[in-house]
Amino acid sequence: MEKKLEWDRKAGIINVLHDGKKERVIMMREGYMAPFIDEIEKTGGKHSVQLVLRAFLKRIGADHTIDISQLPSFTQMYEMVNDGYFLPLSEEMENIPKEFTWEKGTRKFSIFGDTHFFVTNLTTIIQFKEAMEDVMSERGARAILRNVSKMAGKAVWERAQKDYNWKDMREAIASLDGISSYFMPLYGWGTCRWIPEVDQNGYTLSYARFWNAYETYNTTGSNPVCVLQLSYFEGIAEMISRNLSGNSVESREVKCVSKGDPFCAYVIKEKDKTEKSLDWKIVDEEWKKIDLMDIAPVG
Ligand SMILES: [Zn+2]
Repeated sequence: MEKKLEWDRKAGIINVLHDGKKERVIMMREGYMAPFIDEIEKTGGKHSVQLVLRAFLKRIGADHTIDISQLPSFTQMYEMVNDGYFLPLSEEMENIPKEFTWEKGTRKFSIFGDTHFFVTNLTTIIQFKEAMEDVMSERGARAILRNVSKMAGKAVWERAQKDYNWKDMREAIASLDGISSYFMPLYGWGTCRWIPEVDQNGYTLSYARFWNAYETYNTTGSNPVCVLQLSYFEGIAEMISRNLSGNSVESREVKCVSKGDPFCAYVIKEKDKTEKSLDWKIVDEEWKKIDLMDIAPVG
C-alpha cells in the first residue's frame, strides 16, 4: 500500500501515513550516516561497526543471526531498511511544503535546489543510537554522537556566516532564533526558540527551548536524550564564539521531554578559551531567570 507524508509545520512534525497508522519521520541530509560509521570504526575498528549493525538489526526486529560480515555496509543496510519502510511513496501527496522539490516516488527531497534530504524513519535513528549504547556503553556512544554532530554544526556555521555576516554571539543567536524557527519544522525536527542574554562580563548565555525535539520520540528515562541536536547547535555556537570573539563555549541540556519535562531546554554559555570548566551553579541561576519568561513557538 502507498504511503503518504503529512507536514504539521506548527508542531514541527512530519508523519508518514500507512495502513491507517501514523508514525513520525524526519528529513536528514544525504550522507549524514557515514561520518557516524567512520567514527565508530576509528574508535573500535571494523568489528565494532559489525557489532553495532547486529545490535541495530536485532532492535528493529530484522534477522540478526545471519553472518554480518557477508552483509553490505552499514550505510547501505540502513538505507535499505529505510527504502523498505517508505517505498512506494505516493505521488499524490498534496501538502509538501513549497520550499521542497521532490524526486517523485523516492525518499529524496531538495531544498532551494541544492541541499538534498532523505525522509528517514525516526525509529531507526533512535534504534541506531541505542544499538551504539548496547555495544559501547552510554558514555562511549555519546562521545561519538556528540563529536560527529558537532562537526556537522561547525560545517553549517561556515555557510551561515557567509550568508548572514554575524558580528557577535548575541546577534548570531537572535538571528538563529528566526532561522531555526523556519527550517526545523520543514525538516520535522520539532520547533524551537533561542534567547541570547549577555552577562556582566560580556559572555553570552544562549537559552533554547525545544518542542517535539526529534530524539525524544517514544523515549523515556532519567537522562536527557537530545545529544545529536544539542551537539549540532553547540558546534555552530562554538564556531561563532571562536571566530567572532576568540572565546569558547560549554553546553548542557537542562530539561528534556524524555525525562518528563514539558519541553527540552538547552543552554550554551560562552567562556574565556583559557577557562577549564564553568561553574554551573552560576550558569543554572542565569538560565533559570530566562526560563521563567513566557516563551512560545513562532506561528
Ligand atoms: Zn531533549
